[in-house]
Amino acid sequence: MNLIIFGPPGAGKGTQSTFIAKKYNLFQLSTGKILRDQVKAKTDLGAKISPLINSGSFVSDEIVSELIEKIIKEENYKDKIIFDGYPRSLSQARNLDNLLKKYTQKIDIVLKLSVSFKTIKKRISERRTLENRPDDNEDIAIKRYKTYEKSTEPVIEYYKKLNLLKVIDGERSIEQINKEISDIIALI
Ligand code: AMP
Repeated sequence: MNLIIFGPPGAGKGTQSTFIAKKYNLFQLSTGKILRDQVKAKTDLGAKISPLINSGSFVSDEIVSELIEKIIKEENYKDKIIFDGYPRSLSQARNLDNLLKKYTQKIDIVLKLSVSFKTIKKRISERRTLENRPDDNEDIAIKRYKTYEKSTEPVIEYYKKLNLLKVIDGERSIEQINKEISDIIALI
């Protein structure tokens, strides 16, 4: 089973992906985390992408595509991936389609955590205290939210047309959301 989870920054994608990955023995492919790890490890790539991440801009499709292909082609992760933070644009969605075809895989279900802007602002400000992410400051967080609406919402429509989309009310408690996701997965 391969899944994609969508949601604006601060919607709880990371928390829910970690839960799903553990419960169903999937690899959590969080592009944001992989990219941040490059910055933390002070690699050449990290130095190149750090200003983009800190300003809430996208890292280039080429860079992200190379990173995700490395995981998709791993035999151990075949049909065992939860995509968290990818695809974020229509060009990335097309790229993902091609990669999955190349490695004879497909997406089985697409989840969207639906959360109001008010809640997002509150959650990001809480996360700022906990995780100290430079891109969680209020202005950058608003920019990331707007980019999500402009570039990522159309991708969700794309999966809706393919009848793969399940929308989840992300305003509820972590446990309630966990439960709903498990019930959806049980029906696949
Ligand atoms: P996230 O942890 O998913 O909120 O991602 C944090 C940051 O990493 C984003 O604001 C982008 O700068 C970068 N990033 C993560 N995923 C992607 C992606 N699929 N395409 C381009 N940039 C990305």
